[in-house]
Amino acid sequence: NIDQIDEADVYKELKPFIAMIRRQHEDIRRNADMRQEFTANVSHELKTPLTAVSGYAEIMENGMASEKDVIHFSGEIHRNANRLLQLINDTIRLSELDAVHMEIVTEKLDVYELAQNCVDTLQVKADKMEVTIRIAGEPCILETSREMINELLYNLCDNAIRYNKKGGRVLVLVGENEYKEKYIEVKDNGIGIPMEYQERVFERFYRVDKSRSKETGGTGLGLAIVKHIIVQLHARLEMDSEEGKGTMMRIVFAKKEN
Ligand code: ADP
Repeated sequence: NIDQIDEADVYKELKPFIAMIRRQHEDIRRNADMRQEFTANVSHELKTPLTAVSGYAEIMENGMASEKDVIHFSGEIHRNANRLLQLINDTIRLSELDAVHMEIVTEKLDVYELAQNCVDTLQVKADKMEVTIRIAGEPCILETSREMINELLYNLCDNAIRYNKKGGRVLVLVGENEYKEKYIEVKDNGIGIPMEYQERVFERFYRVDKSRSKETGGTGLGLAIVKHIIVQLHARLEMDSEEGKGTMMRIVFAKKEN
């Protein structure tokens, strides 16, 4: 009987559903905001190198460049084109890692060996920046993704070199903690990250010092990629950094039960 329905009771029943719909609505709005901000950032980041490429090419096309200028401008075009390529590669990689159901190919591998290869690859860059990089630890066998471990190692070591000082040191440590969890640690005694930025550096395109990042070839997406990979591998990140003293980033892998 419709006259006997208590409206207050109906409202009480509906209340949790209304709250749930409001929360979902809020999530959708926040996601849309983030997407919009990301698109704006990507467009802006692409525009700068593309404007340079176009500008240098135009001067050469008009025959306004001397022979010496041509060499210089070609170099700039090459550098900016590489920067564009790296930005696009990192953006594509982030969108792949964003997928909820990402297929991850795993194999049994020695993480220590991969770290050794990474250190060898980055040796030239470290020498150029007058930074010493070395590795310590022991063989560390994990069933995991070769591609993702390489990306983690490369991004963390590259940052440890680039945000360092002349004569600085980088130590890559592969081992097992007291809970028998395996880990990769990259420690530097470089410029460090001020406390107030330590959470933010994992956001896309967030940099503490934009010009230093760009000068050393950064896209501002490295740590966002690291964060996404850690989620995909069910690992966790421990971080300790102090401005002027250095940074430690440690990736700890969840222990397999069997
Ligand atoms: P980028 O391409 O700018 O290096 P990342 O996402 O790798 O982008 O890092 C984001 C920012 O975090 C960097 O611009 C830098 O300010 C800071 N950062 C990352 N690693 C380090 C480090 N080892 N020492 C000091 N600052 C760091």
